[in-house]
Order: sequence, then C-alpha cells, then structure tokens
Amino acid sequence: MALTLLRGMRTPISFRSSTGLFFTVLRPRLARFTTRAESAQATEAKAAAKSIQLATKEASEQKLQGFEAIIGIETHVQLSTVTKAFCSCPYNYGSQPNSTICPTCMGHPGTLPVLNEKVVECAVKLGLALNCEISMTSKFDRKQYFYPDLPKGYQISQFDIPIAKKGYVDLDLPVEFGGGHRKFGITRVHMEEDAGKLLHSESGSYSQVDLNRAGVPLLEIVSEPDMRTGIEAAEYGAELQRIVRYLGVSNGNMQEGSLRCDVNVSVRPVGQSEFGTKVEIKNMNSFSEINRAIDYEISRQILLHKEGQADQIVQETRLWDESSQKTFTMRKKEGLADYRYFPEPDLPEVVLTTDYIDEISKSMPELPEAKRRRYENMGLSMQDVLFLANDDNVAHFFDSTLEHGADAKLACNWIMGDIAAYLKNEKLSIDETKLTPLELSELIASIKNGIISGKIGKEILVELISKGGTVKGVIEEKDLVQV
Ligand SMILES: [Zn+2]
Repeated sequence: MALTLLRGMRTPISFRSSTGLFFTVLRPRLARFTTRAESAQATEAKAAAKSIQLATKEASEQKLQGFEAIIGIETHVQLSTVTKAFCSCPYNYGSQPNSTICPTCMGHPGTLPVLNEKVVECAVKLGLALNCEISMTSKFDRKQYFYPDLPKGYQISQFDIPIAKKGYVDLDLPVEFGGGHRKFGITRVHMEEDAGKLLHSESGSYSQVDLNRAGVPLLEIVSEPDMRTGIEAAEYGAELQRIVRYLGVSNGNMQEGSLRCDVNVSVRPVGQSEFGTKVEIKNMNSFSEINRAIDYEISRQILLHKEGQADQIVQETRLWDESSQKTFTMRKKEGLADYRYFPEPDLPEVVLTTDYIDEISKSMPELPEAKRRRYENMGLSMQDVLFLANDDNVAHFFDSTLEHGADAKLACNWIMGDIAAYLKNEKLSIDETKLTPLELSELIASIKNGIISGKIGKEILVELISKGGTVKGVIEEKDLVQV
C-alpha cells in the first residue's frame, strides 16, 4: 500500500487492491518495414515456380518416409511501450548497458511492482487480433528459476489464467511454397517480463550482465501443435510479425530480439495417435532459419527412428547453428514442476470490463487476413495479395492510390515492380520516399490517357520517388509529352 504510483487512469480497468496504475503511452512506431522483394522476383519466375512446387512436395514426402512431424511454437513479442512492465524505466534497444534500470527492475528487496496499463491494452489487442477469448479476470504468477540475468530470482508471468486463450490465426502460404490457406490454433497469450542479457567475453573467461532489458514487457503466444512443415511454421511466425506490426504493439524485429520463436518439434509414424518426444529449438534469427532448422530437425529425428535409435531423441533444448546448418544440444529441458509457480503476491488481479474490451475492439485496424481477402476480391493474384498485405505501409500506400482513382492491377504492378526495386536498392520503406499515392495515380492516368508512354512513365517515377514533385511538373520541365 506504501508504494502507489498513480499517474492517471484513462480506461476502466479495475484492480482488486489499492495498487494504482502506471499510465504510459506507446512510443511512435520504430519499425523499419522491409518490403517483400522475394515476392517481386517470384513474379518473374511464375512459370518455374509450379515445377519447383511439385519437386519440393515430392522431396519432402520422400524425406518423411512414413512419418509426420508435429510442430508447435512459443513466440515472445517485446512490447514497444515507453516504460517497462512494472517500473518507470524506459527501454531502448542498444542503450549503454545498465543505464535504464532502477531498484524495482533490479529486484532490490523492499521494492514493489506496479503494472503498466499499456501492457494490458497491448495484450487485449493481440488477443482480439488472434481471435481469442479474453479473460475478464486474470492474474500474475511468479515463475521461479535461477539465471544470472534474472536479478529477482523469479520472473513475473501468467500461469494458469492467461489474459487470452483459445484463438486461431489464418494465413496463406506463398505461391512458391505450394500456396494454400492454413488455420493454426492459438492456445494462449499471456503477459510477462523479460530478463536481462549476458554479454560473454571473447576469451570466454568471464561474462557481464546488462539489466536494461530486465522487466521489459513481453507477450508470449503459444500455438497449438498444428504445423507440419518448416515452411508452415515460418509463415505462422511471419503472420504474427505482421499482426503485431499492424497493431503497433511491437516493432517485431527478430534481429533485435523483439520477436523470438521457440519451436517444438517431434515426429511420429503416420497413424500413431500419441506424440513423439518433443525437442525445442531456439536461436533462430529469421523466418528462413526457422524453416531450415525445423526441416533439419525433422530429418534428424526420422533418421534416428529409422536406425532404431528413437530412444536417443530426448526432451531437450537445441540451438540452430546457421554456419553448419544443424541443430545441436544446449541443455536438457526443465519440467514444469521445476518452476514452482505461485500467485504473485505483490500484484492485484487484472479485472477487465466489457466496455474496456469493446473500446479496444473498435480501435482495431484492418488486419492482414481481412486485407488479403479484400485484395483477393479485387481480382488480384495471390502473389500480389501477399506482397501488398505483407507490410501495412505498402498496403496503406496501395489503398490510398486506389482512392485517387487508380486501377488496382496497374497500381499493384508499379508498387511490386519499379517501386519495390527502388526501395530494395535504397534500403527504404515506402513511406520514406518522396512519392505520394496521388502522384502514382496521376502517373498511371497519364500513361492510360496517352499523354506519356510507359517507358517515359518509368523515367518520371524515378524523378518522383527520389526528388518528389508532380507528374505534370516533371512532364513540363523535361518536355516529355508524347507526340
Ligand atoms: Zn526499472
């Protein structure tokens, strides 16, 4: 009761104790959105793709040899809140080590955590986006374990009552990987805090600890074991990344550790109902690494089965090594009992009202799946649809161009072709260029009306995207009218 930090309460979340809420705001989105250049290249290779699809399918079936893989994923998403989950420290990736810490996030005795309201808001947003049931009452629990970068000796998490559960995610596999729609179950979404980070010396003789990340809010998303291949798992991860970016709750950047996927893989003979021993894989820094790590692990386990050494598949954590393209043992996995969870005595229950959830629900943007279906209904190909909906900045640019009267297919061709190539080359995102949706629609109209040729149009685009200005201005300035 002594430590009550109450800066203001905007939304009707109530707590069953005297502890107040720490009101913070989301910082502007920091994400640098990359474009899906692979998809653009894939357009050219459309004909080749079909035969590759068949070959890939045959190869993977041959590799499975009567076995099937069961894959589930635990994803940690770091929230882009201004302050940490239970104290007023900020968190900025790459800050001077131990510069954004306080007695609370360092776990000093006598300090008390105070929940950041924005963490609850982000959790509800993500829960709704993943079609989950939202728990009107949930609570925090302590997960006990010792680790040098965990100063308190426990992690505040949610154990038996997560804030959201029983959801699903819809996605479309890329055409070059065989295509098709998939629906994967979401078991739960819960709130927790991050640990610090160990920095190992080059000689390996000592390690240093940076506690800046300790106490940073995370959402953990646990999937149902619904994936069967590396590509399905990678696309599931990519869809979560799109969703958190669309929602603005995280920059979803894998290199910075803002989005981390731990994958559980087991294999079993086709027809067997019980699961095989599952192995966890960590340390993957991209979706392509997730894909390759899983496919390697599936092959490794099937080989052990075939050689009569299935007992060598043990419950363990393995790391992916990008240089050798293999997984290797890191440690034997602790069971649930090792964590000795119990309810966090320093935090009240989180009680939500239907008004609060309705308000968040109304503020939700159009999500990737809804966008894909809308673009599909415009008659665009799945390749176009996936490219446009992959990045919400690109989707927004496309939508705005259509609002200015441009034809959907033509606008899409410009965005996926010349514009995407320019962005890739200059390492820019579409909202960082001088080109506006209005001028792109003017450019398309000028070609359509025969004022300029398509070839001249490409030259004008380069001017607009690098220097800005208007289509009319560039045509006059360079005297480009078609005779
Ligand atoms: Zn702190």
